Amino acid sequence: MSVSVVLFTSDLRLHDHPPLRAAVAAAREVVPLFVRDPAVDRAGFAAPNRLAFLADCLTDLDAGLRERGGRLVVRSGDTVTEVCGVVRQAGADEVHMAAGHSAFARAREALLRRALESDGRRLYVHDAVTTVVPPGEVTPQGSDHFAVFTPYLRRWVSEPLRAPLAAPRAVPVPQGPRSEKLPERAAVEGVSEGLATGGETEGRRRLRVWLSRHADSYEEVHDDLAGDATSRLSPYLHFGAVSATEAVHRARARGGAGAEAFVRQLCWRDFHQQVLAARPETAVEDYRPRHDLWRRGEEAEADLRAWQQGRTGYPVVDAALRQLAYEGWTHNRGRLLAASFLAKTLYLDWREGARHFLALLVDGDIANNQLNWQWVAGTGTDTRPNRVLNPVLQGKRYDPEGAYVRRWVPELAHLPGPLIHEPWRLKGRDRAAYDYPEPLVDLADGLSRFRRARGRE
Ligand code: FAD
Repeated sequence: MSVSVVLFTSDLRLHDHPPLRAAVAAAREVVPLFVRDPAVDRAGFAAPNRLAFLADCLTDLDAGLRERGGRLVVRSGDTVTEVCGVVRQAGADEVHMAAGHSAFARAREALLRRALESDGRRLYVHDAVTTVVPPGEVTPQGSDHFAVFTPYLRRWVSEPLRAPLAAPRAVPVPQGPRSEKLPERAAVEGVSEGLATGGETEGRRRLRVWLSRHADSYEEVHDDLAGDATSRLSPYLHFGAVSATEAVHRARARGGAGAEAFVRQLCWRDFHQQVLAARPETAVEDYRPRHDLWRRGEEAEADLRAWQQGRTGYPVVDAALRQLAYEGWTHNRGRLLAASFLAKTLYLDWREGARHFLALLVDGDIANNQLNWQWVAGTGTDTRPNRVLNPVLQGKRYDPEGAYVRRWVPELAHLPGPLIHEPWRLKGRDRAAYDYPEPLVDLADGLSRFRRARGRE
């Protein structure tokens, strides 16, 4: 056999890449291929922040391949048509790719397999490339997935992990298949000003620096909003620029409570993937329906707009939403507070909030976004579905000096200490001195009032 194709999808890296290693081992020459498929965009991928980050990842991947004597081939069009075209042009016998877990990815894989096999070629799908433990690999008795995190974690941590693979030293690419021009970040419009730089090189640098400097204190500081001391690896993991398996190995090698807490977070990522793989409809439907009658109508729409703009009148919620708009990323505690406020306090449909997040988040993915939203809204896997996060108490707890709010809500920057979380307590002239909205709703009765009102309709 002389030529194989490796199809990159959500695994835009050279290190720890089983399909690439298998393709290199199987053939004298390899075509590293990425297809820009409009169907992926139509499925909700095409948000400017993710397109810009993708362009960075592809540029970096191409550079890494060139260092190894190869190059990236980029094509636009239907994945099956493009892969089959490249296979024929290159005279390849086999295609290697990572297993995908969404309904879309699985349907694409089945079509590709059929098309290749009918042409006498083979498709090899590799597990544990985008997740640490493949969905469905560990299951509780009598079910196809875990519905509760802690028992899943117990099984997940004891699963044997494959050793991380080195990047191949050489990737010889045949002359034939031509590439389109690589997409450029600068050509994408509507990108958040503070968006991080994508790519494997940057992702690996972050992983190395974060593990050596910050992992030890992660358990104590991961909820400190102003401290901003989490790894910020989520976009690199989302695009596969960093391998989750390698991140687990390296964190475990470092050891300590902080590194273990980080590994536990990576388990959440797999947990949601295995729920979505087993229940693909939960991308839009309640995982555990609670028959909510979410608010609708003009007043509800106005509240949604105020929430999207970061003008709810609750400073920590607004700070999180403004950081999201500016960076295309926001802190986990900020996501929790913004989501709880939308679903549990304003009593607006979690799908509206999830849609807004997906339009902006550079790490936005169906499994982790939709199922975290459902967790917060009480329709998902939370074992305490009625919990409501109070933005004033949470603000005082996770941003005690108000430094996070001061960073993102500059109109309140002059307010001292914890008062910044309750600006409505200012009186008279002091209050008139800042341009910041009154709270949209009174925390004491918001949810119950909205629920009662909907119940009467
Ligand atoms: P760290 O604290 O450094 O954690 C390390 C890694 O663990 C993260 O990069 C991420 O891959 C994973 N992780 C951490 N927390 C979670 C979690 N709760 N669920 C799943 N994986 C987790 N994460 C996404 O990757 N994509 C999303 O679209 C997304 N949407 C979210 C929506 C809501 C409403 C909420 C509450 C959370 C969402 N998260 C999402 C989870 C989490 O907020 C982010 O993964 C995390 O903030 C990323 O920052 P980090 O890389 O610094 O995380």
